[in-house]
Amino acid sequence: MSYKQSTNPKICTRCILPETFPGISFNDEGICNHCRRYRGQQATEEQKKKYEQKFLDLIHESTNQRISQSYDVLMAYSGGKDSTYTLDVFVNRYNLRVLALTFDNTFVSKQSFINMQKVCENLGVDHLIIRPDPKMLRNIFRTAAKEELYSLKTLERASTICTSCIGLVKSLILRTAIEKEIPFVGFGWSPGQAPVQSSVMKTNAALMKTTQKAIYEPLHAIAADAINPCFVTDEQFDNPEKFPWNIHPLAFLDYNEEKIVERNNEIGWIKPDDTDPNSTNCLLNAYANQVHRIKYGFHPYVWEIANMVRAGILDRQEGIEKIYPPENEEMVDYAKQELGN
Ligand SMILES: [Zn+2]
Repeated sequence: MSYKQSTNPKICTRCILPETFPGISFNDEGICNHCRRYRGQQATEEQKKKYEQKFLDLIHESTNQRISQSYDVLMAYSGGKDSTYTLDVFVNRYNLRVLALTFDNTFVSKQSFINMQKVCENLGVDHLIIRPDPKMLRNIFRTAAKEELYSLKTLERASTICTSCIGLVKSLILRTAIEKEIPFVGFGWSPGQAPVQSSVMKTNAALMKTTQKAIYEPLHAIAADAINPCFVTDEQFDNPEKFPWNIHPLAFLDYNEEKIVERNNEIGWIKPDDTDPNSTNCLLNAYANQVHRIKYGFHPYVWEIANMVRAGILDRQEGIEKIYPPENEEMVDYAKQELGN
């Protein structure tokens, strides 16, 4: 059963949210409640400047205090378009010493690994790859494809498989930054994924502890103590002053997909052709999306893409093409076979 045949949902005439999205309603012109409530929340030039300045001040402070730290930034490096561009920004716009950390979820495409190697080499960046036991990870993903592990609110923003994977990555990154005493953690989130207000923010230990628990408990029920090395320890949570600042600079810089790809090409990145159009690096993505669409009737990225359409970062047609492309059955079958589902 493919999504296109099973449903042909009415979508908002302004953004792209479908009638199947939880809690949505439309007015007579077919405009959704989110669009009607929207008051131009995209970052103003003034806000962007303010947050970049905040980051520059922190860099200045941390460089003054620096004694024996080995790196300035720990970059969450997926090898995708946005994280590659962000890595370049940290190195060449802000002249920082970056350690790129890649979580190999065992579904990273070959092209993506080639890209990451080339980019790190061209930028002169050290690259740390962590690849947990594939049997353990696949057990988690297999279960996540079949069971509900998280709240419905979480599932409005991402699939159960992606939420599991991202949860592991976020905790692992945080733990690594604390252990290595790296003051900044970098993310390549697009303006639709995270607002400028959170672009330069000290990690809140208490909040992170709650967030981690919501991921840790269901994953621990599946994989037991084997997942522990990916998570922040209680002892670390007791020392919030050692927590890093989170920085996602794409929120305060100009975001233009064409320019990003153009710059990435200059530093050795080639757009992978073997993956889902929404994710330029993960071979599990198409399956994760299909499972979510069949179960909930909407695409797990539709919220994020609708935000970008509303903010004028993407036009509506581009958004539709990202969210309602033909099914990539080959990719779906590959992931299913790998997981034994
Ligand atoms: Zn709308």
